[in-house]
Amino acid sequence: MTAALRADVAIVGAGIIGLAGAEHLTAHGASVVVIDDSATDAATPVSGGLIRAFDPAGAYAAWLVESCARYLARGRHGSWPAVRRHGSLTLIDEGDLGRAAPRIEAVRSAGLPVEVLDAGDIVKRHPQLTVPRHVLGVMEPRAGWLPAADTLRALHRDAGPALRLLRARALSLTHSSSRVRGVRTSGADVHADAVLLAAGVGSTPLAASAGVHLPLRTRAVSYCLFRVEDTTGLPTMVDHTTGAWLRRWDTDRTVLAGVPSTRTGVPARTRDGVDTAEAERVRAVVARRFPQLAGAAAVGGVTAYDAMVPEAGPGSVTSWPSPRGLVTAAGWNGGGFKIAPAVGRQAADHLLEALQR
Ligand SMILES: Cc1cc2nc3c(=O)[nH]c(=O)nc-3n(C[C@H](O)[C@H](O)[C@H](O)COP(=O)(O)OP(=O)(O)OC[C@H]3O[C@@H](n4cnc5c(N)ncnc54)[C@H](O)[C@@H]3O)c2cc1C
Repeated sequence: MTAALRADVAIVGAGIIGLAGAEHLTAHGASVVVIDDSATDAATPVSGGLIRAFDPAGAYAAWLVESCARYLARGRHGSWPAVRRHGSLTLIDEGDLGRAAPRIEAVRSAGLPVEVLDAGDIVKRHPQLTVPRHVLGVMEPRAGWLPAADTLRALHRDAGPALRLLRARALSLTHSSSRVRGVRTSGADVHADAVLLAAGVGSTPLAASAGVHLPLRTRAVSYCLFRVEDTTGLPTMVDHTTGAWLRRWDTDRTVLAGVPSTRTGVPARTRDGVDTAEAERVRAVVARRFPQLAGAAAVGGVTAYDAMVPEAGPGSVTSWPSPRGLVTAAGWNGGGFKIAPAVGRQAADHLLEALQR
């Protein structure tokens, strides 16, 4: 029988949310065992890694600003990969500017540069783009994207020796007297006074094993790679008027492009490549803003998934009253990377508080 492990906190899930929580916990003196059974079938390693502080909708305004500042500072020790500062251009309909204004102000108040461009300004600066007159751009010149797998490795490194990684499947939570006691796994059992479930859709059955209802399902998230003529000066773009998103790939003359999918209940698997129908769906939408895509060769991509709450609302960080010591952080619906430092900090704050009680 494998000897049990003991730590202050057990975390299920070594994705960006679990490791952001672990890094914050160890920085505050807690010991952590992170349990994960797969290095491949997770959303984070295949993430597009787009980061920015502004979003016109959604419930995460403060988390976006906090996380963007953290990414730009390259973490606690300045050791995370540098943000590819290609600029983040968020396109919105001019009719939505009033509602977006407080969020633009929040970005500015945090000391992060941001400006509003009209369609003429956008095309003058980025002649590869086509933007109709009713569309405005919110430009964050210091934002852009990060290599997701390298960022994961940096978080793991920063957490130091107080983080131990257990390659095993978490099977259920152990609890008694309405307090969580640890995690039963396919390898060693882990004894801990607090548990963070950051396991995407895998969080649901584990929460249920402690009597907590956490409904989540998968949603397809993929992107395609296209070989184009010219990517010089092309910003990272997120278009709220069509759903298109785009960034330069890390080799010349290649872009990564995607359009949100409505397909849910897909397998929690990732694979290289996208089928032809998906590549054509993405091409048709993204080419409306980046016409080079119309004639570009599709050269690859990724087919994957993320966890979402059933009504497509935002995920959340929840500290459950029973069993005490259980915190869940899941349901990011295709957008968890850019808010991960704040989500991890929030989850860790709840866990540190639970350890005091
Ligand atoms: C193709 C793609 C592109 C994306 N692009 C962006 C982007 O540009 N910007 C952005 O902000 N977001 C983006 N996202 C979303 C973002 O990547 C995710 O929201 C985020 O990575 C989710 O992180 P997580 O830690 O919650 O989950 P994951 O990274 O999925 O990690 C969960 C982990 O839990 C483990 N696990 C599950 N069940 C168990 C169990 N029982 N036992 C042990 N381990 C278990 C899994 O193996 C996995 O490693 C993208 C997602 C995809 C798929």
